[in-house]
Amino acid sequence: MSASSSVLFDRTPSFSFEFFPPKTQEGADNLVQTIVRLQEFHPSFVSVTYGAGGSSREFTRAVVQETQSRGIPTVPHLTCVGHTEAELADILAGYTKAGARAVLALRGDPPRNRPYDPTRDAFHHASELVRFIRRWEEAQGLGYRLTVGVAGFPEGHPDARNRLREMDFLKAKVDEGADYICTQLFFDNHAFFDFRDRCRIMGIDCPIIAGIMPVTSISGLNRMADLSAGTNFPSRLLKALLRAGGDKGSVERIGINYASNQCGELLDADVDGIHFYTLNKSKATLEIYRNLGLNSCYDVERLHMLNHLYKA
Ligand SMILES: Cc1cc2nc3c(=O)[nH]c(=O)nc-3n(C[C@H](O)[C@H](O)[C@H](O)COP(=O)(O)OP(=O)(O)OC[C@H]3O[C@@H](n4cnc5c(N)ncnc54)[C@H](O)[C@@H]3O)c2cc1C
Repeated sequence: MSASSSVLFDRTPSFSFEFFPPKTQEGADNLVQTIVRLQEFHPSFVSVTYGAGGSSREFTRAVVQETQSRGIPTVPHLTCVGHTEAELADILAGYTKAGARAVLALRGDPPRNRPYDPTRDAFHHASELVRFIRRWEEAQGLGYRLTVGVAGFPEGHPDARNRLREMDFLKAKVDEGADYICTQLFFDNHAFFDFRDRCRIMGIDCPIIAGIMPVTSISGLNRMADLSAGTNFPSRLLKALLRAGGDKGSVERIGINYASNQCGELLDADVDGIHFYTLNKSKATLEIYRNLGLNSCYDVERLHMLNHLYKA
């Protein structure tokens, strides 16, 4: 099976949303409301993050169960930092039992605020996790092939000293059996286009999904700086945010406009998919859809149809 025959990519470009597993009842209720609102747009899939080392294990599985039971193809994330093979196998079994047919295979980052013994880890790189997943699925005789995604960093992973070597490591993940790449969030489309070209030159032919996160508040921007290792913030965006002088409505408008323009340009350049880092909120994503002229699920379907016609 090629990636393009995966349910995640039966319509291109794919549109997908990322959620994190809430740890409180209030957070869970909010997330369900967000899922209900965004489901109207028939996402190609949603993905659910995993706390490296297992801190969100049960919560991740609960969200996967929720979204799968609503008929939304779901991609749970899995990180190998802090896990043995037996633990990873157990988590994969839980995901497939919950109905997931896909997984995003990641290394994760060692925990900063708890003791961590790296000698326990079965794997040190995401490529080894991809290999393990392929071995595991074969041994299980699942009867279907999991769609496996991996992370890509258009502006470079912060640990990587050499961009060329980094591309070799990315290719190793695909050669081990990854079906698609989802990128770190970025604000400069040139970085994405350049990355996509480098992948194609390297012979990495799988779909490359662009990760987009609109700035919606100054506190969100601070959180983003934490989460988005390796991402540059363009001065054009930062200047516009400074002009807003902390006015919440203006900051949100600027962030949504910026992300809408980014997405429009990506769609014009035949991006394989757009993955929205939603932070469990629906407003910004819905506004971006509207700004792109995609007011309803009907418009999304029409975009897919037009793309097929032009490509035929
Ligand atoms: C789309 C996306 C989703 C994410 N979701 C989560 C999540 O749910 N939970 C979470 O904890 N984190 C998540 N992360 C963060 C991610 O776990 C970290 O950025 C982590 O540092 C790198 O993970 P990776 O899978 O890219 O690792 P790898 O591909 O293993 O790469 C990590 C570093 O090691 C280098 N490297 C790779 N292979 C080798 C090798 N053989 N020899 C030497 N160096 C090598 C790479 O160049 C890179 O610098 C996500 C990131 C992205 C982009």
